[in-house]
Amino acid sequence: MHTSGGGPFGKGICMKNLNEIADAVHALAWEKGWHSNDESEDAFVERACNNLHDEVSELHEAWRNNQLHEFCDKAGQMVEHGLPALTCIEEEFADIIIRVLDNCRKLDVDILKAVIAKHEFNKLRAMRHGGKRS
Ligand SMILES: [Mg+2]
Repeated sequence: MHTSGGGPFGKGICMKNLNEIADAVHALAWEKGWHSNDESEDAFVERACNNLHDEVSELHEAWRNNQLHEFCDKAGQMVEHGLPALTCIEEEFADIIIRVLDNCRKLDVDILKAVIAKHEFNKLRAMRHGGKRS
């Protein structure tokens, strides 16, 4: 069993499930002022989609600049706080997942159930999901 030495999800925790991580991420997003009770669901979904696009674009930009495996611009600060220094690819994939999990919790999506169900369904699908190119 792999256990962490601590960190944002708790000392000695081996593997939290996605919904537990979503809870922690969402609580921090509220604490940091990224949510408010007076934002409509429509406005939130539009903002969430834009933010996800932004994170995907940041990943793409790192690829364009041939910097995927270079340390990200926050790596030095991370090390100062005792965290591992992340590369650009690690940071941007983490940002994408964090935003997805925060959005799921905000919109009451059981992402653990959804990921498991979709993964199991994908096992049943044809090769390349019926001949798709990508
Ligand atoms: Mg980012």
